[in-house]
Amino acid sequence: MKLQSTSNRQLNTSSMSPTLFRRMLVVAILGFSAIWTIDASSGIIVSFDAAAYPICIGAFSLVFILSVATKINHQSLHFFVYFIVAGYLISSSIWHHMAANGLFSNAAQWLGLNYVIAYLFLEVKKAAPTTIIVFVVTIIGHYIAIIQYHTMADTMGVVLNIAIAHLIYIFLLWTVIKLRVKTDQVIERADTLENYAYVDLLTRVLNRRGIEKVFNELNLDSTEQKKNYAILIIDIDHFKQVNDINGHLAGDKVLSSIAGKLSRTVHPNDVLGRWGGEEFIVLTLNRTPKQVMTLAENLRTAVSNLVIDNISNITVSIGIGYSYEASSKEAVFKIADSHLYIAKQSGRNTIRTSNT
Ligand code: GH3
Ligand code: MG
Ligand code: MG
Repeated sequence: MKLQSTSNRQLNTSSMSPTLFRRMLVVAILGFSAIWTIDASSGIIVSFDAAAYPICIGAFSLVFILSVATKINHQSLHFFVYFIVAGYLISSSIWHHMAANGLFSNAAQWLGLNYVIAYLFLEVKKAAPTTIIVFVVTIIGHYIAIIQYHTMADTMGVVLNIAIAHLIYIFLLWTVIKLRVKTDQVIERADTLENYAYVDLLTRVLNRRGIEKVFNELNLDSTEQKKNYAILIIDIDHFKQVNDINGHLAGDKVLSSIAGKLSRTVHPNDVLGRWGGEEFIVLTLNRTPKQVMTLAENLRTAVSNLVIDNISNITVSIGIGYSYEASSKEAVFKIADSHLYIAKQSGRNTIRTSNT
């Protein structure tokens, strides 16, 4: 069992799931269809929208089908949808700015959305250049359209206003996203450091603090839902002698090899940790006493078969406590510890429970 970690948090804002993406496409299709119907039935639809609405609806529908029926990369589809929306808003604004279609563009107020959508739905490193391209196209497009029918002063008045407003949008969004990325990185680092605090550096299994954390997270003493678990305390036999004969460094190697063996032998859902010195703990959930004994026997024999740098005859003694024997994890632990003591007294390299 692993400590809960949020380290897989994504460092970009584009974490949209395929389902959410499809839902948004449906909303876009329905939204565009509704506006199209309302504009058309009330007779206020302009010729640009009369052509643009069905094109956008068709394009969204095509993307929806592609996202369901093919394995096409979703990032490319996000981009495609983005360029449909941005393309529609920019061209609509430009169209409205042409003198023949009216001086002031209602569509211009919506252009800021192009930047918001880019930063919300594209990866940060793609959103930044995308917004710059969209900005340049917006400014040049409006300039070319307006200068044809208006004086340079009027044109510059409109274009500069758009440019300054849009630069402020981009700058503010970029700042917010940068802060968000920074925060994500800080949280990620804190997660990593926190995990270090719970892992024993020598054996790479949970340390005492880590074991206590997992035990607490599992809420073993819950009165609402009685948990069925067993605690195994595993103590290396005569480990002092291993150090005395082979040296402390060899002792370290034996410790980490034993930890590796134990962790490969337990079930992925079991909790394994180093309680301290040459003692390990295994917490195993929802097993019958017979299954627990089999696990303990597997652990004992796995260790006894180890040969580490010519050091053999490495054995462990194991004491077991069951949740049904006491009302708190501390009491179960005490029972396991007393059984370990009996195992040591009985000659070591053995397992003891209340039944054995
Ligand atoms: P018993 O069978 O009764 O458990 O005997 P033991 O020698 O294993 O127990 P004892 O408590 O007398 O000694 C434990 C030894 O474990 C003493 C200590 O030097 C050694 N030890 C504890 N932590 C480490 C470690 O991180 N590295 C090494 N190399 N030795 C350690
Ligand atoms: Mg000990
Ligand atoms: Mg020992």
